[in-house]
Amino acid sequence: MKIEKIDLSILSIPLKTPFITALRRVDTARDLIVKITTDDGHTGYGSAPATVVITGDSHESEAAAINNIIGPAIIGMDIDDRAAILSRIQSSMVHNSSAKAAVDIAVHDLFGQRYGLPLYRFFGGARKRIVSDLTISINEPAVMVADALKAVRAGYTNVKLKVGIDAALDLQRVTAIRKAIGPHISIRLDANQGWTVKEAIRTIHAMEDADLAIELIEQPVPAWDMEGLQQVTDSVDTDIMADESAFSPRDVFRLLSLRACDLLNIKLMKAGGLGPASQIAAMAEACGIRCMMGCMIESKIGITAAASLAAGTPAITINDLDAADLMASDPVHGGIHYEKNEIVLPDAPGLGITAIEE
Ligand SMILES: [Mg+2]
Repeated sequence: MKIEKIDLSILSIPLKTPFITALRRVDTARDLIVKITTDDGHTGYGSAPATVVITGDSHESEAAAINNIIGPAIIGMDIDDRAAILSRIQSSMVHNSSAKAAVDIAVHDLFGQRYGLPLYRFFGGARKRIVSDLTISINEPAVMVADALKAVRAGYTNVKLKVGIDAALDLQRVTAIRKAIGPHISIRLDANQGWTVKEAIRTIHAMEDADLAIELIEQPVPAWDMEGLQQVTDSVDTDIMADESAFSPRDVFRLLSLRACDLLNIKLMKAGGLGPASQIAAMAEACGIRCMMGCMIESKIGITAAASLAAGTPAITINDLDAADLMASDPVHGGIHYEKNEIVLPDAPGLGITAIEE
């Protein structure tokens, strides 16, 4: 099974409601679709959204990277040489983690097809179903309360609230939501780098004093400030998770060495695909750090890949893989499906994706 050609296209899917964080607003999900065809007629799918304010990757830069550099580096290689292909993808150029991820996902899809193996089994088969939270966009407190109640009614047991635009208002938001949804639903917060170190420590202490029972807080401070993240982690009781500070396995090595966080958020688009993401999970497991599997606003292709790694890997105990459930339609046939707060993995080989309506 040799890699013969790589085709790219764009898939646009409107969201049910706009996705708003401290960093950006998204109304329509747009994925660059990577289709790798092999000499024996198999098709492997991968995808990458453009997240310029997070990874710096646009669809134009992803397409240029794949067409001109990453693609030519792996054309003609045999899918059985998986490790060699993955290492070529990573060493072909620096940065461009989303482009690398899209190609890496398609290669894993083909490897699964080659051996008739669903990807969650390839990664270890720890589970076949995983629980995901639902993300609530940052809005006026009343709107966020209504969105959180709707999520709970739909069966979600964990909500992830976007905060980080105004620390004082964030405390009001979380207080109102905790009151509305009661004590049994877990609340996670994501500040998306929106607080200063002191603002973060002050706000988190206030939330602890108010008994809001926050399960974890993602990326309170700017991504580059690992020492600042460490200072927040050292100063509060609530678990602190690194997201935008943790892209590559090397970033994670530094975070773990500094003991800068209690938890890690792994995303394929930051890590550069399933290969480096599974290295991160292994490093975390060796250090006794638990991981969340996260995602960008991306279609079911990337979500199925991420869910496969999460379901296979014991160190990944928390999932924030709701993106495909935020979309108004589902043009990707096969792959995972959602059942209330759970994601069910497909038993078909690879990603189990059979067609994409474009
Ligand atoms: Mg985050």
